[in-house]
Amino acid sequence: MAYDSQEMVKKVFNQNSARVDTNKGEEFYNNLFEKTKARLSKLRKQPALKDIDIIDIVESEGVNRRDFMKWASATTATLMLPPMFTPLVAEAAELMNRLPVIWIELQDCAGNSEALLRSSTPTVDDLIFDVLSLEFHETIMAAAGHQADAQLEDAVEHFKGKYLLFVEGAIPTAMNGQYGTIGASGETFQEHLMRLSKDAAAVVAVGSCATFGGIPAAAPNPTGAVGVMDLVKGKPVINIPACPANPANMVGVVLHYVLTGQVPELDSLLRPKFAFGYRIHDNCERRAHFDAGEYVEEWGDEGAKNNWCLYKMGCKGPMTFNNCSIIRYNDGANWPIGVGRGCIGCSEPDFWDKYAYERPMADAHIKAPTGGVEKTVDEFGLGLLTATTIGIGVHAIASAVVGKRSVNNGESEEA
Ligand code: SF4
Ligand code: SF4
Repeated sequence: MAYDSQEMVKKVFNQNSARVDTNKGEEFYNNLFEKTKARLSKLRKQPALKDIDIIDIVESEGVNRRDFMKWASATTATLMLPPMFTPLVAEAAELMNRLPVIWIELQDCAGNSEALLRSSTPTVDDLIFDVLSLEFHETIMAAAGHQADAQLEDAVEHFKGKYLLFVEGAIPTAMNGQYGTIGASGETFQEHLMRLSKDAAAVVAVGSCATFGGIPAAAPNPTGAVGVMDLVKGKPVINIPACPANPANMVGVVLHYVLTGQVPELDSLLRPKFAFGYRIHDNCERRAHFDAGEYVEEWGDEGAKNNWCLYKMGCKGPMTFNNCSIIRYNDGANWPIGVGRGCIGCSEPDFWDKYAYERPMADAHIKAPTGGVEKTVDEFGLGLLTATTIGIGVHAIASAVVGKRSVNNGESEEA
């Protein structure tokens, strides 16, 4: 595999790009508001597919109406909508039982389903999935074998053109797809995906494997694993990468669809901009240390104890677009950098081969994200390079000064 040089990485950091447009103007939002209200009122007239009420569910888990509205307000902000949309987001959550969802698992570890299900104290995001009309999810449904097959066929037939197809896992394409088959007919994962996506309103690829091939596609990729967008054409495809995908982003995509009937604005890798419009590095709690040139130099050193920047320990936050530095994981409790582990770029294509090791990117000949990422996300430009250069430059000067002082004090230079 050919790697880009350090110069190439710097070049990417130097390119100008489009900003994520977080303020589209009053007229745009007023029009969207009216359109959304009309959409929700139409949805309300449709029969619920599931006799379940979000308020009953959240209250049974100890979340009161006030907390539910707080969640709606935070979700509105996550979707990059102004506060006037908060009541509509709350209403959309109540109407999610009108949306049929089919969830299939292919070449995967079920980690994305786990992320949704394993919460000990479920958040509203987790509970929202109880409201969705999940017509098929082989991991959590009671039916198995022929019964499960029949349930799937019924759902596809009944909700033709209306269901959202969630796909978890990569698709093996080598040996005519024989690395993965499903059901008694021996249908390959690829055939399964193509058949079910044909009648879907949109396809949502969840997790790094379904989006970009993930770990199954890591070199030498013996099964020829690819992501959904490599196969499904002529149909809206939304990518929610990360390992696992964050439940809040899955809910955000579904809510956006319920609210507007459309897929959210996507970047060039088909990721919703509301979630993947910024880099980890932009909102990282250790960023001040990066800018000050204060780095962890080895595990357990003073920098590590003081939560300094993990760039020199291989953090790929500067190259990675995701919102986990804001919304975090495990019910918002924490996230990798929060517990002292650098980002491994799990929401970027080929992350396992390119990012998942503990060396800083500028010295590791890592291929930088090219091919349009920088054209559709937050400014990936001169400012960053300057900050990077200053950060590292300041650190280099500081190290030299400390080294000189140590030498003058008669200490070893390696100390
Ligand atoms: S390099 Fe990593 S740890 Fe350092 S500020 Fe950026 S994202 Fe945070
Ligand atoms: S910090 Fe990086 S590696 Fe960790 S979950 Fe977020 S994007 Fe993935």
